[in-house]
Amino acid sequence: MRKKIIQSFLLIFMSSFLIGFGILYGVLYQVSINQETETLFDEISVISMSNQEMNNNLGKELSDYGKRLTVITEDGKVLYDNTNAQIKENHLQRKEIKEAITSGKGNSIRHSNTMNQDYLYAALYDDEDDIVIRLAVPFNGITESAMLLTPVFLIVFVIAFIIVWFLSKRLAASIVKPFQDISNVIRKANFGKEDIVLKDHQYPELTEITDAISTMNAQISKNLEKLERERKIREEFFTNASHELKTPLTSIRGYSELLKTHAIVDDEQKEKCLDRILSESDHMTKLINDILTISELETKDYVVTMSHIKVKEVLNNVIENLSVQANSANVSIQSDCEDIIVYASLDHIQRILYNLVSNAIKYNKPNGKVYVDIKARLKDMRIKVSDTGIGIAKSKQKRVFQRFYRVDKQRTKTVAGTGIGLAIVKHIVEFYHGEIILKSKVDVGTTIIVSLPILENK
Ligand code: ADP
Repeated sequence: MRKKIIQSFLLIFMSSFLIGFGILYGVLYQVSINQETETLFDEISVISMSNQEMNNNLGKELSDYGKRLTVITEDGKVLYDNTNAQIKENHLQRKEIKEAITSGKGNSIRHSNTMNQDYLYAALYDDEDDIVIRLAVPFNGITESAMLLTPVFLIVFVIAFIIVWFLSKRLAASIVKPFQDISNVIRKANFGKEDIVLKDHQYPELTEITDAISTMNAQISKNLEKLERERKIREEFFTNASHELKTPLTSIRGYSELLKTHAIVDDEQKEKCLDRILSESDHMTKLINDILTISELETKDYVVTMSHIKVKEVLNNVIENLSVQANSANVSIQSDCEDIIVYASLDHIQRILYNLVSNAIKYNKPNGKVYVDIKARLKDMRIKVSDTGIGIAKSKQKRVFQRFYRVDKQRTKTVAGTGIGLAIVKHIVEFYHGEIILKSKVDVGTTIIVSLPILENK
């Protein structure tokens, strides 16, 4: 970049210098011709005032100075020429003569065949004698003036070139410096891990680059944080999953060993052991199914079979299935569902309703109530499940949607659960780009509202 800037500068300088010098040369050349011509006119005026004899002497003198004096009649005949050449040719067509006859004076630069050289001619019309007096000086044109100007030109050029080269080097360095500063910072930067501090600089154009770097750093930092969060969630998930699976497995193994070693002889006790083994294996099956559902929902190319579903029928089935659980917990369920049809996965709708209603029963109080209300709201199906149960403390409300999270392990120990139910509900809601709201007050109750944009028609 630096090299390119210096090269461009020198190129611009040389072009401007040559153009400038060309113009200057042209102007000087024209000025010198004008001056020379004026001098010739002055000399002709003096000549025109002298008599014939004086003219002859003057002609000789002028000839010594290399000047040519010619006297021409009105009809172009040469009366006198101080070169002593025998000129027969009519001069009427000569430019300077023509001009002198018509307008009093004329001039031109031309090659003289008589003298075989370029001449600068000036001619004046003498109206007393009706003659044209012409004076000419050898003209060397550009070459002579160029010879004079060339050394000056070269010296000026070399000095100016050195100055411009030096200045362009400094300028290039000052232009390149902020870029070097930025690339140094980028090279050493620990992107996403720390703030990138870029020095202030004098070019506003560079602000765009520094802003872009800062934005990029913030984005990387965000992505790293997201990756770290996801890594932690995954790690927690595996720890929790293996722990949750180990607990029922240990129980099953314990009861099986008891039975195998015939340590229990009482038939009733044996029956209890077998019941525990069955319930623990049921719990394991549910847990594994829930884990599979969650990982299925997290898979991006997860294929879902959608159909038209009559929500009221699904809700009635769910309530029916949970009626034993509700009766044994002494909890009553009231439901109000509009006749709506949605287009979704039947499994998803069943899981949402089952998890919400079963939680409302599980975390309720004796003689508690559960209200289920399903309505159509514009394009949304809105499910509202409320209970008069133990409630969830404000600080824990966000966490209940995390996998394996159970609010109060001691308190919920007696309640069967895996801690995955609400996480599944949240995943399903996200799948349909819906919304989930939780309102709860400890010892008063909980309300969960799910809105899904899946309404087909009424
Ligand atoms: P679980 O299998 O434990 O029921 P969930 O994911 O369904 O798992 O719920 C997570 C936790 O949120 C539960 O363990 C419970 O502590 C709390 N919770 C869920 N629903 C309710 C509710 N209706 N009332 C009080 N607490 C609830």
